[in-house]
Amino acid sequence: MIDKLDLNTKAQELRELLGEDANSPVDIFSLVSQIEGLTLVFHDLGKNISGMCVKDNEIKLIAINSTMSYGRQRFSLAHELYHLYYDDTSGFNVCSKILNSKSENEKCADQFASYFLAPYKSLKAAIKKAAPEGSMSMQEVIALEQYFGMSHLAMFWRLVSEGYLSQDYLDDYSHGVISAARTLGYDEKLYNPTPVDQQSRTYGYYLKQVEEVRKKDLVSSGKVDELLLDAFRDDIAFGLDDDQGGEALD
Ligand SMILES: [Zn+2]
Repeated sequence: MIDKLDLNTKAQELRELLGEDANSPVDIFSLVSQIEGLTLVFHDLGKNISGMCVKDNEIKLIAINSTMSYGRQRFSLAHELYHLYYDDTSGFNVCSKILNSKSENEKCADQFASYFLAPYKSLKAAIKKAAPEGSMSMQEVIALEQYFGMSHLAMFWRLVSEGYLSQDYLDDYSHGVISAARTLGYDEKLYNPTPVDQQSRTYGYYLKQVEEVRKKDLVSSGKVDELLLDAFRDDIAFGLDDDQGGEALD
């Protein structure tokens, strides 16, 4: 049985641990960049996998399927944070993209992710504002997912789990989302995958380690390049951005 109250409390605790308040929408990628020792990898993980988490005494690694929408990537990252901080059952998790039909442990991670991005109290307050009558049309669902930065389906299932929508509406609420969001004046970034040429990237601890061995001259510059290329960072290895110019530091 999933203990929703406990998961909401854990989500709030982690938000606060990462320097965020308990209720506001979060820039989860920026928050995660502060986690000591964590390497974050974006990659095409295929059609069925949303993310992965590996943790043991030496490694903390989260991989996110960058071919999924930006909103879903935010959700997947929050899901993997559950495995990283609160899941003691396994040091290695490969997570299916399917929402709402998984093992108990995966359901806990999804529920945690939902609360992390849209805390129980603030979602309730936002619903009161967006849909004071309690009727939840596509317009209100889009307003809520845009505010909290959550994928459309993740928000749909959250609203089902809180009794605001029936799952019978899944089909009706799964079509024409981007055009509806556009018409309502929203940015469509939430619904788009990462551009193909940027889908494979590594951030965080791994790069700090490579820089460390480079500075200490522990390996040859060819080996440093190899380590960077292994991490899909040819932009650093070959200084690609430097060549392009046009840096804006304003
Ligand atoms: Zn999982």
